[in-house]
Order: sequence, then C-alpha cells, then structure tokens
Amino acid sequence: MTRPRSPSEALQRYALGLARERLLAPVPVDSGRRRAALLRKLKAAGINGWPERMTLFTKSLPMGCRPCLKGQGSNLVMTLKCNRDCFFCFNPEPRLAEMSVHGRSVRDLKEGVALLAALGARSVGISGGEPLLEKRKVLALARALRRHFGRSLRIDLYTNGDLLTTRVLKSLKAAGVSGLRMNLAANGYDPAPAALALGVFKDVEVEIPMIPEDKGRVLVLLGRLEELGCRHLILHELFASAANVSRMDGRRAHERRSGLTWSGVSGSEAAALEVLLEALRAMRKISVYYCSTGTQGWIAQRAMARARARG
Ligand code: SF4
Repeated sequence: MTRPRSPSEALQRYALGLARERLLAPVPVDSGRRRAALLRKLKAAGINGWPERMTLFTKSLPMGCRPCLKGQGSNLVMTLKCNRDCFFCFNPEPRLAEMSVHGRSVRDLKEGVALLAALGARSVGISGGEPLLEKRKVLALARALRRHFGRSLRIDLYTNGDLLTTRVLKSLKAAGVSGLRMNLAANGYDPAPAALALGVFKDVEVEIPMIPEDKGRVLVLLGRLEELGCRHLILHELFASAANVSRMDGRRAHERRSGLTWSGVSGSEAAALEVLLEALRAMRKISVYYCSTGTQGWIAQRAMARARARG
C-alpha cells in the first residue's frame, strides 16, 4: 500500500476504502424484519439519536463522540503492537511499533501534533494496538497536545486496561488525558480495570464490539458498570475487514454501504439494539451508545469534507 501524501488523502482513504485488499462476498441481510421490530420498540421506549444512520443512544452521548459526530474527531495510533490478540482486531498485519494518523505514518510526536492541528481536531483518541506499551510516548503526546491546543481539546486514551495501575492513571491525568475508553471485550468482559480507573478519572467509558453470541455477558457487564458509576457503554457493530476476516469463524458479513473497507457482521446490530432496549428498561444512570458501521462511514465522510474545506 502506498503512503497517503496529505491529511485529506489519508482521510479519503479511510472514508472511501481505497486501501481494501480483499472484499467479502455480500450475503443477504436476513435480519431486516427483526431489526425493524427492534427499532419500533426502541422508538416507543424513547431512544435518542439518528435512526436513519443507526446512531442511537439511551441517555447521553459520550463527550469524545460529540466532536467526532461533527467530523471534528481524530485519532493517533501510537503503536500497532499489543499484548493481546483478539479475533475481532481490525489492525493490519504486521503490527508494527509505528505511529500513524488515519493510516498516514508519522515520524515523531511533533509531526503527529502538526497533522492533528491541520485536520482541525477538537477531540483526539490515542489508540493502538495497546498504546500503554509506549507509556512514555503517550504521556509526552498528551502534554504536547495540551500545550498546542489548550484545555478545549478532548483527549481520550483507548486501552484494553491490562497495563493500568493507579500510578499510571495518575500520570495520564497529570499529562492532560481527559478520559479513558476501555475495550473490555479483550479481557472477557472483566470490569476490574474500569473500577480501578474510576478511582482517578471521572470519564471512564467502555467501548466494545458487539459480538452477537456474547450478548448475555455484555448485559452482565452493563449492570456492573452501572453499579461502578461508569457513564457510558459504547457498542460498535462487529465488522469484518481485510485484517480480521480470516478469524471470523464463519460469521456472515454483509456490505451495508458500498465503498467501505468493512462489513457489519450478521446479528451484531440486532444484539446491540437488544442491549439498548434493556438499558432503556433497567438502567438508571449509565447511557448506552450504539455506533454502527453506517455511523462510522458517515463520520469519516464528514471528517474528509472538513479536511478538504481546510485545504
Ligand atoms: S486489545 Fe485492542 S488492539 Fe489489542 S488485539 Fe485486542 S482489539 Fe486489537
């Protein structure tokens, strides 16, 4: 794959899927009626959001998602290396210790900050791989972002939570990180890292792919997160891409939108809608947010339009 030359080209690739190496054969969507029935129930129960692009939430949107939904969110991958090897991981192989912004590799933190500034980011996710494998660089990046953007920028650290300690959490907070996004599907839905993080950060959000057969475990996790005082559970539609399709174990994928590099996995969306319904019914404080592949494609298009407008 050739390297994108500019921020807008990097975003264009992200949005339009020019980097696709392998296509999944589309299969008919068999869950249309079930999905429509669930959507009717959700609307009757007072769901919020934009059902036309399957962006739905029960109470409030996570702080970092607000700029993202306006096309003002961005992301810096600190490293593709990880201490886990989840079957659903969409990071491309080989998993190199390389920094990148929307697929464009960056040499150092200074270049990364300049690129994020050129994209007009209002919120930045520091992700990976597992970014805490490069803890010192994460701290240096957070400080550099704070120096450049001031307090207005939202900085979320994406982590599987394995390497968190109270000391690490305090140093992240002191460096200017606003909140944490934890993928607890990586550890089998153990909420312990979220409980630890809530001792230091107010904004601890759990963000997981909705694996259809794990719906019961996700509901148990939801109840635990409510007890702990977590504000948001973010569910992504599980998707197959060139990077993970060989490990999808016969899961059926369908192309939701032409031009995307990924395809939603059959049953994931319906399971997410069922979790939303349960949250509306039984959760008093925690908000569940569903971010579909359609939403992610839409976000990427908005970000690209914004980057183009900035030249
Ligand atoms: S923890 Fe995250 S980055 Fe690591 S393998 Fe799992 S999905 Fe990929």
